[in-house]
Parts: sequence; C-alpha cells; structure tokens
Amino acid sequence: MLTVCYPHYLIKSVVELSPERLRALGVENLLLDVDCTLKRYGMQELEPEITAWLEKIKGEGFRICLLSNGMGPRIGRFAEKVGLPFVAEAWKPLPRGCFRAMKEFGFERDKTVIVGDQIFADVMAGRFAGIRTFLTTAIFPEEEPWYTRMKRPFEKVVMRFYNRKFPDGVWVDPKSRKKRGA
Ligand SMILES: [Mg+2]
Repeated sequence: MLTVCYPHYLIKSVVELSPERLRALGVENLLLDVDCTLKRYGMQELEPEITAWLEKIKGEGFRICLLSNGMGPRIGRFAEKVGLPFVAEAWKPLPRGCFRAMKEFGFERDKTVIVGDQIFADVMAGRFAGIRTFLTTAIFPEEEPWYTRMKRPFEKVVMRFYNRKFPDGVWVDPKSRKKRGA
C-alpha cells in the first residue's frame, strides 16, 4: 500500500543524475520539480553547480520540462530565466501535470522520469502517472510555505519504512521479487 509513496530512486541532489546514469536507465526525458529541487523556495537564482548540471543535461540532448505546483507567473519567470518549458499549477500528487507535459512534448512513459523533493507531491504524481521517480533531498526546506512543511513529518515516517526495506535507495518491486522466488 505504501508503494505509491515509495520513490524508485533516492538521490541527494539532481547533480547526481549524470548523462551516463540516465542513459543506463533508458531515460531520455525529465520532469523537474522547481522549488527545493532545483533552487531554494524563496529565491529565483540557482546555485552554480545546478546551473552547470542543467547545461550539461540539456547539451547532451535530454529533454526537460519543469513541473511545479507553483503559480504560473512565478514559475514562468523562472522557466524563462533558465530557458526551459514548464507546466505550472500541476496539482501534484495528481498525475495530470505529468500527463500534460508528456503529451505536449511527446515524452514516452518508459523513457520519462520525475525528479522532486516531496513524496506527497512529486513521487506520488509520478507513481500515479506510471513513470519512474527520483526523490531528492530538499534544498533549504526551512523556507517552504507552512502547507509543505506540514507534510514533512509524514514523509519521515514513510522514509523510515523505505530505508529499512530498500537500504540502497533503490526500490525493488515486491512482485518481481516474488517472481524470482526471493
Ligand atoms: Mg519541491
């Protein structure tokens, strides 16, 4: 039952997603959360290492769409600054933002991943949309609005189960384990 809250992969920062690692997983397209994933909530600027990562990923031919629950004008200004398309007011954990982005840009489900810092938004939206999910450590979560901070203790509970079950930070489908007789 918790599966819908379980990320496929845990990372500490998006910069861990090298072109090599993404290619090895068959990933071509990324749906990227904005706040606390790419930047601090209260800021428009990116850390230099994140900018460098974005440039590298773009340069290597990966396709990116920003996918945020934030309001259109704010996310739009940020998207313009970093030169990326976006879907705002995505209503994650509902999957409709994922579907909209994938449809608009022709992203295939098995070649697309979502990367975000919130279980009850990014991970669940990705799970409902049937795509793989990367959960990253939040950048400066102290700045988040109260309705996001409110969810963090529940995330900790989920992650306690997750870490016990998947200590490598890689989700293993219980069904496939059963099939292998493990
Ligand atoms: Mg976020």
